[in-house]
Amino acid sequence: MKPLPLEPVDENWDRALVVVAHPDDVEFGAAAAIARWTDQGKTVVYCMVTSGEAGIDGMTPDEARDVRIGEQIESGKVVGVEAVEFLGLPDGIIEYGVPLRRAIAEVVRNHRPEIVITNNFRETWGGSMPNQSDHIAVGKATLDAVRDAGNRWIFSEQLTGGLEPWGGVTQVWAAGSPDGTHGVDTTETFDRGVESLMAHKAYIDGLGWENFDPAEFLEGMSRPTGSRMGVTHAASFEVFKLAWGE
Ligand SMILES: [Zn+2]
Repeated sequence: MKPLPLEPVDENWDRALVVVAHPDDVEFGAAAAIARWTDQGKTVVYCMVTSGEAGIDGMTPDEARDVRIGEQIESGKVVGVEAVEFLGLPDGIIEYGVPLRRAIAEVVRNHRPEIVITNNFRETWGGSMPNQSDHIAVGKATLDAVRDAGNRWIFSEQLTGGLEPWGGVTQVWAAGSPDGTHGVDTTETFDRGVESLMAHKAYIDGLGWENFDPAEFLEGMSRPTGSRMGVTHAASFEVFKLAWGE
């Protein structure tokens, strides 16, 4: 079966917030799109729910935490992201629920984005490989938290010191979802996406994947996605529209 064409994502916005579970989640597919948007003058902020401290087998969480925070900050700079926040929740065992929604809603209220981007939170990546539990929890909670953020009666204890509800998020995008409907041309910025993944050096080394080639890996996703848009490279997103009638 031929994959369906992807519709271009809406690029008529100024501020996006990326909320993902781990350092490296953006870089495994979406970073080239982030570079495209920052090149257009848009502001993109990263929020990491954990610090990825359980991600390196040969390094204790206390050692890995600082290394991974450093790599993520570096990785963001490569694609024009200056602000990276870490919520410090425990890597690997994030639970979907009200505390997670509360933490993400506060970030949304602080940054007042129009677009919120998270990772695929479907059960799989499209094959039989199950998605990871933290990604599912964070994606679902992010979708809920953008609505919580707009309601002054939810998590109202946050509304002090000038912090206001923010109901301006129009869409939530889940990167790499097997149900992706939309895409963006990343041909011009593909190389920076690769460089951004390579910034996670300690993590990639720790994976112990022999002969892992970040460019080849990313091409394996971006070329088939690009062909669905008639371009060389693209990134895909499942788009959730939050306003009625859109
Ligand atoms: Zn992850």
